[in-house]
Amino acid sequence: MTNLDRLYFFYRAPRERFRQLLAIYGRKPEDRLPDARTFLTRFAAHKSNYLLGFITDPVTALFLIAWDISALRTNVFAALGSFCFGLLTWTLLEYGFHRFVYHKGNTLAHKGHLMHHESPRLLLGMPWYVTSGFFLLMWYIFAVRLRVPAAASFFGAIAAGYFYYCSVHHIQHHFRLANTWFRGLTRHHNIHHRLQDVNFGVTNRFWDRVFGTQYRKEDYKLRAVARLNRKN
Ligand SMILES: [Zn+2]
Ligand SMILES: [Zn+2]
Repeated sequence: MTNLDRLYFFYRAPRERFRQLLAIYGRKPEDRLPDARTFLTRFAAHKSNYLLGFITDPVTALFLIAWDISALRTNVFAALGSFCFGLLTWTLLEYGFHRFVYHKGNTLAHKGHLMHHESPRLLLGMPWYVTSGFFLLMWYIFAVRLRVPAAASFFGAIAAGYFYYCSVHHIQHHFRLANTWFRGLTRHHNIHHRLQDVNFGVTNRFWDRVFGTQYRKEDYKLRAVARLNRKN
């Protein structure tokens, strides 16, 4: 190796490598973002991601409940109470998430949800590892590190609620059930697909009633009349 070669090896080569890296990563974040977004959008829109979620979510829920009872030795009734409380919490989370995350802001979740509104039968879903990853993080913090009794059952119920929500929503768009209660729920959701500022609940109508976002024919008629009056 001549002195010149040595100089190239120790000085020029790393510098060139650095320049290459700068060309890839040194771009402005706005320039890099579309790549990440395209990847995530493609991933979320892939059928396998959608289907995998139907396996990972219930498995995560079962794992959390089993851990609570067998590893932390939580009293079964305390775990059951926590699970029921978690399911109730889920109904509110479902409403809040749909109303304030899926229908607001400039996020991927909002864009993905608009795609669902346009093509309701498309198999779109949150990346499965985001939901499972979130629950495993909660499990690690509350059940492994802090060892809070019944906390894992609470998060297990949120995972189970999410799985229930995904199942109900899938059936609403892909099957026709004769059950009167379910048909009412489907009608409630179909109205939301046309009028995006009402009927945010998917598995229940309770929180729409509480927060006054349930569809009422009369309100829409009055608004239509007001719009017409403004134009004239
Ligand atoms: Zn829908
Ligand atoms: Zn929506």
